[in-house]
Order: sequence, then C-alpha cells, then structure tokens
Amino acid sequence: MSIVAPPGRKHLSADALFRLVHSGFASLPDYRVGDVEIAFTDALMSAFAMFSLKAPSLLAFDKERAEGNLHTIYGIQRVPCDTRMREILDPISPKWLRPAFKSVFRQLQRGKALEAMTWLDGHYLLALDGTGYFSSKTIHCASCLRRVHRNGSITYAHQMLGAALIHPDQRAVIPLMPEPITNRDGTDKNDCERNAAKRFVAKLRQDHPPLKFIVTEDSLSSNAPHIETLHEHGLHYILGVKAGDHAYLFQQVQAAEHAGRVTYYERHDRAAGVVHRFRFVNDMPLNAARTDVRVHFIEYWEVGDDKVQHFSWVTDLRVSKRNVYHLMRGGRARWKIENETFNTLKNQGYNFEHNYGHGEDNLSVVFAMLMMLAFLVDQTQQLGCALFQAVWAKLGSKRRLWERMRALFYDYAFASMRQLFEALLYGFKKSSPLVAVDSS
Ligand SMILES: [Zn+2]
Repeated sequence: MSIVAPPGRKHLSADALFRLVHSGFASLPDYRVGDVEIAFTDALMSAFAMFSLKAPSLLAFDKERAEGNLHTIYGIQRVPCDTRMREILDPISPKWLRPAFKSVFRQLQRGKALEAMTWLDGHYLLALDGTGYFSSKTIHCASCLRRVHRNGSITYAHQMLGAALIHPDQRAVIPLMPEPITNRDGTDKNDCERNAAKRFVAKLRQDHPPLKFIVTEDSLSSNAPHIETLHEHGLHYILGVKAGDHAYLFQQVQAAEHAGRVTYYERHDRAAGVVHRFRFVNDMPLNAARTDVRVHFIEYWEVGDDKVQHFSWVTDLRVSKRNVYHLMRGGRARWKIENETFNTLKNQGYNFEHNYGHGEDNLSVVFAMLMMLAFLVDQTQQLGCALFQAVWAKLGSKRRLWERMRALFYDYAFASMRQLFEALLYGFKKSSPLVAVDSS
C-alpha cells in the first residue's frame, strides 16, 4: 500500500507548510539591536513547534528539545531555553503573525483544496464567536482584561474573537487569525465582542477582498450596529435570535402569522427518523428602536421520536421553501466553532487554557495566536494531505496521533515530517542498538 497525494497538493503537506511558516517568520524584522544569541525566527519557530507537537508545557518542550529533529523538520538553528523564548516573544505585536495565517490560507486556495468548504452558491460559511482562554486573580500583563469585584479584588483574563470557515458536511474547520479582545474594547462583554468584531471584519475584507462569506453567530450578535457592520463589508449572515432577547421581532412574526404572511414547510427524513419543521417570514423589523433594519426570519423544529430541538435565526438571504433547509443547516453548523475549534483546542492535545507563560506585554496573546496557527496548519493537512489523513485513520484519534508523533519525534532522527508520518503508517523498524565492542 502506498499513499499518493493528489496532484498539486504537495504544498499542503506538513513539511511544505512548516517551510512556509518558517519563511514568513524569517521575513519579519528583528526588533532587537546588537548581537543576539538566538535568531528571532528561531524563537518564533520554536514556539510554533511547541504547539505543532502539542507539548503539554513550555517546560516539557524545553526538557525534550531534541535539537536534531527541530533542526531538520522545523528548520530551527538554535532552540532558545524557556526563559529566553518568553523574553524574545513578549514584546512583539500579535499582528505580525497575520501574514503567516494568510499565506497558509493561500496554499489552501491553490490546488482548489478550499473548494470543499464552499457552500450555497460559492459562499464560505464563516463562524465567529468569543471565547476566553485565561483567567487569574494574580497573574496579569499589560493586555489583560480586568474585572474589578465589589470587594476590590481583580480578575485578569484574556479573550479572543475566534473565526473559522465551517461546512455542514466537512469535519475540518479552517481557522482565520483571531482578533484579540483587549482592555480598550470596553467593560461589558457584548461591547467587547462587538468592537473586536468590527476590527475583525475590516481586516477580513482587507485580506480577502473577493471572497463571498455568510457569517454565522449566536444571538448576542443579532443587534442593529453589528448587522450594519456586516452589511457595510458585503457580508451575508445567518444569526441566532431568541424570543427572550428579541421580543419585538417575535411579536411581529406572530402578527404576520395572524395576517397569513408566514410560510410553513416540512421535510421528512425517514432514515434519521426526524421531521424538519419550519415557519419563516421575510422582511421583518429587527427591533422596535431600529425598524429600518429589516431581516428575514426562520424558526425551526427538529422533531425526533422522543425529543424536539428548536432554533430561530435572522438572515439577509431571502428565505423560500427552496433554500430554508440549507439555511437551517448553515445556522446549525455554527456549533463547529465551539466544538470543533475551541473544544478541540482545549481538550484534544493543544492545551488552549494552559499557561505557557504570561509575559508582561503580549506573550500570552502571541502564544494563543501561534497555537491557532499550528491548529490551522493541522487542519490544512486534515483537509488536503492524503498521508496525514491515512495516519489519522490508522491511529483512530487525534489524541493518539499526537502522542505517537511526539514519541517518535523525541526518540528517533527523521529527515522530514513525511518520513515520521510514513513510519507511523507503515510501521517503524527499530534498529538494534549499536554496541561498541572492545576487541583489544
Ligand atoms: Zn495578560
């Protein structure tokens, strides 16, 4: 058995992607002056390798530096010790990492790998959601969010607005560069996410001007200012709404129902034993204060044998019996940013909530971005690299894949990640230890 990569997909292998990330880092200016012992590229690449290998902590990475493979596979000349790595990365601005995300994304567009993620008339479904990854009463830095409690104590935290291309039928998700939520974004959770979303959306358009997106978010995002932001940047949307938070909208839908303006639609899925039940109405006012913001409304029930699930959304895509089922699937796919992105980062080896070191300025944010970049590189292989897919299928789970990958990486010398993955796939013959015999 041999694995043949589809033509034109070699650029989506681990080795090609590591080279790409490395050359991106190498083009950044070193902010330090004078004689430096560790190259800036080496410090960045070492942190990337730590997340790529899913080292449980910076200390663990430091202990098993295995310089040989870090040199051949990740292109690192000298690996900094943990303290030095923190010192070098703390002052850098997280935005310096944006080109690396963009260049990996470009590789996905090449060879048409990203086409698997298109949905509904060539759009990409883009899920956005805020998440926290650090909280402490004692450890803090200049970019920490601060919450002052009544008793005067302070909780320090880091949050980000995460973003990923998702697809109802695809397991892979493609993360984009997250937008850090900073202590200048406000004190209220909604304000913070909204301000971060404004920045995110502007940068998204700058990075990918021609791409067509449908943004999907939870009901916190269904407010007039945010919808206007999306509209200004030419983004379509499917956003959750809740009867409790959007009472006026639901009253208007009720009135439309009495007036006979609501459409009902049902679809039976006998194989899954569920009925998909819809009611929808186009051109509704979002809320009483902003009746000029018009949205199309969908309410949906998935009726199973013993359980009913209920969802509702607003969208700017005109709803009809022809597209309502697809729009529902797009709206429901939103869970992938929580489950397949944040939960994977937290529970599947990436240790998103572990503290790799906090720093005084940006270290905590820089580490979070580099972890997301390592996740993007892994997801890119998952979507487009036949060898990675075969190893994953053979080992049965990502957790096991990372464990076996790390074990080989630390114990044996490899010329490339391809060689390591092939060893995992075809078996690895351990050579007998070389014993020097003293024959004198
Ligand atoms: Zn901090």
